[in-house]
Amino acid sequence: MQEYVTDAIILKKDPLGDMDGRYTLFTKRFGRIMAKAKSSRKITSKLAPHLEPGIVAKVRFIETKGTQLIDALKSGQVALPLGDLHFLSQLLPDAEPEPALWELLTGENFTWVAALAILGWDPADAECVECGEKHPTYFYIARQEFYCRTHGGAASKARRDAVLSIDARL
Ligand SMILES: [Zn+2]
Repeated sequence: MQEYVTDAIILKKDPLGDMDGRYTLFTKRFGRIMAKAKSSRKITSKLAPHLEPGIVAKVRFIETKGTQLIDALKSGQVALPLGDLHFLSQLLPDAEPEPALWELLTGENFTWVAALAILGWDPADAECVECGEKHPTYFYIARQEFYCRTHGGAASKARRDAVLSIDARL
């Protein structure tokens, strides 16, 4: 059975059944992967403290009926709030390594403008899809579109989970 080892940032965890967890990881070697961890929600789980969102960990996983996490060891922590980690979990393509983004996230100068540029949506070239205004304020993740303050404000309130405000971080 093939086993893989890589550094990973835990982006998101979801419950799976009674005791298991489903994790979204941004890995250094493989980009975004989803992986299950058996019994990770038991309070006695050895893995659980190493698999909280924001943690940087060395993880080991195998491919068997999906991707299965078998080990994790915390080595650090990124400074992003939970909401930003959630945005990243939605934005990243599956199984595509993004070395520049890895460096950005594990370094000390993270900005969304830089992250979006690495992922191919450079805010410097973007404009509001409604009115064409330059330097848009919002990025709507589900549609991968930019909006100005006027047109993005309403969407931001309605869809807090899907709209990334980028101007506060410029
Ligand atoms: Zn607009």
